[in-house]
Amino acid sequence: MSAGRVVVVGSANVDLVIDVPRHPAGGETILGGDLRRTPGGKGANQAVAAARAGGADTTFVGALGRDESGDLLLGSLAGAGVRTDVVERVDSPTGTALITVSPDGENTIVVAPGANSHVRVGTAQTERIAAADVVLAQLEIPLGAVVAAAGARRAGALFVLNAAPSRELPDEVWEQLDVLVVNEHEAADLVGGSTSAEPESLAAALLARVSAVVITLGALGSLVAERDVPAVRVPAAQVEAVDTTGAGDTYCGVLAAALARGVDLAEAARLAGAAGALAVTRPGAQDAVPDAGAVTALAAALSRPKN
Ligand code: ADP
Repeated sequence: MSAGRVVVVGSANVDLVIDVPRHPAGGETILGGDLRRTPGGKGANQAVAAARAGGADTTFVGALGRDESGDLLLGSLAGAGVRTDVVERVDSPTGTALITVSPDGENTIVVAPGANSHVRVGTAQTERIAAADVVLAQLEIPLGAVVAAAGARRAGALFVLNAAPSRELPDEVWEQLDVLVVNEHEAADLVGGSTSAEPESLAAALLARVSAVVITLGALGSLVAERDVPAVRVPAAQVEAVDTTGAGDTYCGVLAAALARGVDLAEAARLAGAAGALAVTRPGAQDAVPDAGAVTALAAALSRPKN
């Protein structure tokens, strides 16, 4: 199978990460470990994952400041083999995320969008999107850019949306959507339900608006639901979680890469799950994205029947 073409439209942030013994409560100050400065942002993370872990011909559509953080991100994207020629440099600081990570690998994140507020789909970006097999977006950039990107794809190309962080989706996004990827919290937000609801019932509610839904379930793997087909649970690999930052992004990038080369959704979710599991075993976001060989090896080991 030849490598599919993926365009990821989204955010790029520098992650400022501090390990903490526990997350502080409101009004509380605690001491953490040394500060780490690493490339992140949902869009850039997913582009790195599609290219490095998914093996797709990947273009990133996004905006960076004319600053050192922007250079750091360009270097990380290019290092993973992502095409960066339609990335724009703008007169706002590169997006920044403040992240704390507790010993159990749970994280909290605050994002200053900066340049990400200026992501747009102009002529050069439209041309690249029109040549893609899959257009993948998230919600850390203006919704107008997401809608424009979806609308620029050719007939037959898939629009995959990772609806994170949570926000209400206008009808024009729902109408364009081919595959929705969310975690349980985002799924509950979209249906106005409770996170304690079974993923199967959240997926069933979402299928009223979109024909295919993937709900990621952390260490429990993921759920793949398509209209008129029984939902499939994809179990996770058992790994030791070091840092869950970027697991969901790695999952989305690899899912898009697999879909771009014509793999069906359940098999794409197996590959994506293997990549997500490998990502949580290493610190960082883009730095934690595994290579394609490790992903296919783990996915093959998981699908082999056990004696
Ligand atoms: P998000 O970070 O967006 O909430 P998840 O935590 O659901 O996303 O992680 C995305 C995917 O990564 C999961 O569906 C799963 O396949 C994999 N994954 C995440 N955490 C673990 C873990 N602790 N062990 C194994 N796989 C994991």
